[in-house]
Amino acid sequence: MINSTLSYISCMNDDRIKCVKDSEITITELMIPAYANFGGKVHGGILLSLMDKVAYVCASKFSEMYCVTVAVEGVEFLAPVEVGELVSFKAAVNFVGNTTMIVGIRVESLNVTSGKTAHTNSCYFTMAAKDPNGQLAKVPALKIENDTQLRRFCEGRAIRDFSKQKRALLKSDLSQCSILELKSMVNKERCQVDY
Ligand code: GDP
Repeated sequence: MINSTLSYISCMNDDRIKCVKDSEITITELMIPAYANFGGKVHGGILLSLMDKVAYVCASKFSEMYCVTVAVEGVEFLAPVEVGELVSFKAAVNFVGNTTMIVGIRVESLNVTSGKTAHTNSCYFTMAAKDPNGQLAKVPALKIENDTQLRRFCEGRAIRDFSKQKRALLKSDLSQCSILELKSMVNKERCQVDY
């Protein structure tokens, strides 16, 4: 009761609050031969590019602002996509920070002749909103209306924290390490230090 009162009060301070439903979109795309790799399956890069577009549509529709992609988490292709299949991208804003949103995307393929569907992947795009001057802009607060939305909001918060930690890890400055330390770090890896 106290928690829900607090979250109500914190939202009252926001100028704008929108429902998850305001962000929901579904886009379906036919997988044409030009999308195929040498093995005849759809390139992962094509799917990534489509997902980026879907994340943009979802985030800009929700925030009513121009958006840019900041990070992508959880891209893992679970099943190959064939040329000729219809691929649906279902997206929604799962989490909002001050100027960023996490857009979840569920990708499903459909073979129109057999009717067989497959969940090909799910991933989470962090999108930032920009004002007309290109400055980061505040996004609406998110109204949580059911258990699934609450779970996804909490998972979104964990994804934001994980992304921050990952960025810090990638930027860890190994130039401070001695060559001896670097060599000992890789001595059990599948490489041969040849100098
Ligand atoms: P989940 O995140 O654990 O619920 O995993 P899912 O694979 O089911 O979905 C991934 C993301 O896609 C979700 O977090 C939502 O943001 C989005 N999503 C899933 N189902 C739908 C849907 O039916 N419609 C829309 N618009 N988005 C969906």
